[in-house]
Amino acid sequence: MAKRSEVRVGVDLGGTKIHAVAIDGDGRVVGAARQATQSDQGYRAVLERVGEVARSAADEAGVKWKAVEAIGLGVPGPVDAKRGVILMAPNLGWEPSPVAADLAAIIGRPVVLGNDVNFGGLGEATYGCARDQASAFMAFVGTGLGGAFVRKGKVVNGAHGYGGEIGHLPAPFDDAKCGCSRQGCLETTASRGGIARLLREAAARGAKPRIDLSGGLRSSAIRAALDQGCGVTRGAVERCADALAWGLVVVAHVVDPDCFVLGGGVVEGLGGSFLQRVAKTMAAGSALHARSAPDLRLAELGDDAVAVGAAVAAGGR
Ligand SMILES: [Zn+2]
Repeated sequence: MAKRSEVRVGVDLGGTKIHAVAIDGDGRVVGAARQATQSDQGYRAVLERVGEVARSAADEAGVKWKAVEAIGLGVPGPVDAKRGVILMAPNLGWEPSPVAADLAAIIGRPVVLGNDVNFGGLGEATYGCARDQASAFMAFVGTGLGGAFVRKGKVVNGAHGYGGEIGHLPAPFDDAKCGCSRQGCLETTASRGGIARLLREAAARGAKPRIDLSGGLRSSAIRAALDQGCGVTRGAVERCADALAWGLVVVAHVVDPDCFVLGGGVVEGLGGSFLQRVAKTMAAGSALHARSAPDLRLAELGDDAVAVGAAVAAGGR
């Protein structure tokens, strides 16, 4: 049984599931629990469920709830970390809300609130693939594109909470409409949504991608189309990787992190070949990287990254 004082609890609150872990002093997961989010039941019901899942993870780790000093909670949207307020949460259907205070009142423990991608980056930087580095920039390529910059064990949020937010960087090579209502944001190309858009546009021009575009595109379907040698899909994936490389070169020229971490569904689905394409394009597109190749790594913590990072943040409160 883990020592009580060392165990920290973190929760990843997503649009579809709530996932909690308890980690020991070495970052090992010693307890875990999950439940469906059921956001249609409303704000308070979801927070109560977050509390239940966090308690279950602590139970599994053999830790009494009172011995848990604080919990970390990663949420899908921008937050004011100092005030513990979520500013926007379209995936949950929430108005701006003081989540940290409301959850703390329900569970009787202090709550450290953070953006999920930032906590995922913190998890990888502390106990995942970048644990040996002083700084890391994480790019999370899923439906959209999230980013996080972690330096000396802390997320760099910046003065306005925009730190690491590369998804909505205005890119010079595309003008597709973005979910944020602007046009040409980087994530309109460097994401699974971007790959889907490129494939639909190619199909509209008469190309015949060997992939089903009728529903939501899954990373596993992209992988399968590549394995079958679909040139249209390969072209779309390469453009996604090249767009991401452009964004990471911008990051490198501004903050020059020790390493870059690539994670998220697209990266998990496509793996090393995607990473190699990004590295190659970064080297070709930057005088700095032509001289010394960027250190790119695949995320290691998978589904646990956000919850582990949230637990780290709870411990560093
Ligand atoms: Zn945008």
